[in-house]
Amino acid sequence: MDTLNRKLLVGQVSFRRGEPGYEDARRATMWNARLPDRFPDVIVQAQDVYDVVAAVRLAKREGLRLSVRSGGHSWAGNHVREGGLLLDLSAMKTVTVDKAALRATTEPGRAGHELATLLGRQGLFFPTGHCKGVCVGGYLLQGGFGWHSRTLGPACQSVIGLDLVTVDGDIVHASPTENTDLYWAARGSGPGFFCVVTRFHLRVYPKPSVIGFAMQSFAIDRLEEVFRFAHEVGPEVPKSVELQLLMSRNATGVGGPGIEVFAPVFADGYRDAVRDLEFLNKGPLRRKTALKVPFAPSTMNLMYLAVMTHYPAQHRYVVDNMWTRAPIDALLPGLHKIAATMPPAPSHMLWLNWAPPPTRPDMAFSVEDSIYVALYGGWKHAADDEKYSTWATERMREMAPLSSGCQLADENLGQRPARFVTDENLRRLDAIRSERDPQSRFHSYMGRP
Ligand SMILES: Cc1cc2nc3c(=O)[nH]c(=O)nc-3n(C[C@H](O)[C@H](O)[C@H](O)COP(=O)(O)OP(=O)(O)OC[C@H]3O[C@@H](n4cnc5c(N)ncnc54)[C@H](O)[C@@H]3O)c2cc1C
Repeated sequence: MDTLNRKLLVGQVSFRRGEPGYEDARRATMWNARLPDRFPDVIVQAQDVYDVVAAVRLAKREGLRLSVRSGGHSWAGNHVREGGLLLDLSAMKTVTVDKAALRATTEPGRAGHELATLLGRQGLFFPTGHCKGVCVGGYLLQGGFGWHSRTLGPACQSVIGLDLVTVDGDIVHASPTENTDLYWAARGSGPGFFCVVTRFHLRVYPKPSVIGFAMQSFAIDRLEEVFRFAHEVGPEVPKSVELQLLMSRNATGVGGPGIEVFAPVFADGYRDAVRDLEFLNKGPLRRKTALKVPFAPSTMNLMYLAVMTHYPAQHRYVVDNMWTRAPIDALLPGLHKIAATMPPAPSHMLWLNWAPPPTRPDMAFSVEDSIYVALYGGWKHAADDEKYSTWATERMREMAPLSSGCQLADENLGQRPARFVTDENLRRLDAIRSERDPQSRFHSYMGRP
């Protein structure tokens, strides 16, 4: 008997609503401590592709809608839906690396920082996400804004193929030559994708020989100068540098409200790295800092540790975001209001200098702009939900006229629908979906039917 038939007879680890173990299994699917009040009928914990096939066929037999979880880092808990079958792929973590061919494959439940470590041991690199624990499943589907992505592109641009299970439970491969509609859709449709990805095939890169960062911190009364500088210098910042501004009530080196200017650099030599950071180190704000680090060599592990100070686990988060190319004078009133109303740390605002190239490969991912602004409201106790849970969305709603769309990474479409791909790509995505999943058995975006 083949593996598939054995699995179909034996079944997988699954929990029906109301059964012992169900609530633990549901809770374990969410990284955000703010577990939604939504209850799937069945949760299936898949160990391999055959479990996935069996679960998808079970859903078909029972008429259950499907949702998928890889790492459970969707802030909004997109995978936790009312009713239906929730397929949990977090145990599927196998990675293979072909160093000579600069290729790797990974199952969806593998965390990006672990993939970075596995590749790094062989002198290789991939634009994995900035935080520990984010898994490649959801990350690659929605675009993937990772380390060195200004040079390498959103991570989905380096996906060269996918192993998929379709809504009928068939195993197929998608690539530039096979099932090209699914290959197109999988690179950017994020939580609206309509197959289960069981393996990604990736192009990987030689690891940059120098990884480091520069940093400056400013008290909040310098808000206007700091953001004016970032806005003005943005288009000129070398692609090797990711200029990030983090505004919070507890900025490093300030000890209170302020802005950390963090500039990671990925270069092929120390001199290049120092040269690429000159815009900051020789910039007009250098004498006004509360803290200044002109250059610190680093490792991927240290980068992850630094970023994670802003995203502690066991916290309750609500996020929202926007792309913009608005003039700084139009943005400043909104930035002041964000600063004035910001909840205590770890809540913060991220300003990311993106300045994308004029064109990308043809893929669903299609909305991006010069600057990315994201708000992360984070707090510890459920008792504070009412106080803090609307901050991110309300501020973004007010600034929406200045926005050209949102990024699915930090989506909150259920609370605030926004444009996440171009109109043309949305039409194309909807057409592929209605052909591949005509009965809408996969849940789509929250905030869209
Ligand atoms: C602390 C933190 C830091 C983050 N940092 C970054 C960052 O630096 N850059 C960035 O781009 N994003 C970042 N994100 C956002 C993150 O990339 C997305 O939330 C992503 O969807 C998470 O992937 P996941 O597999 O962990 O999540 P999941 O919640 O498991 O997946 C999200 C959605 O993707 C779909 N999906 C997931 N796996 C599959 C699959 N195998 N097949 C079909 N559909 C699937 C489902 O619709 C699911 O609801 C961060 C999120 C958090 C919480």
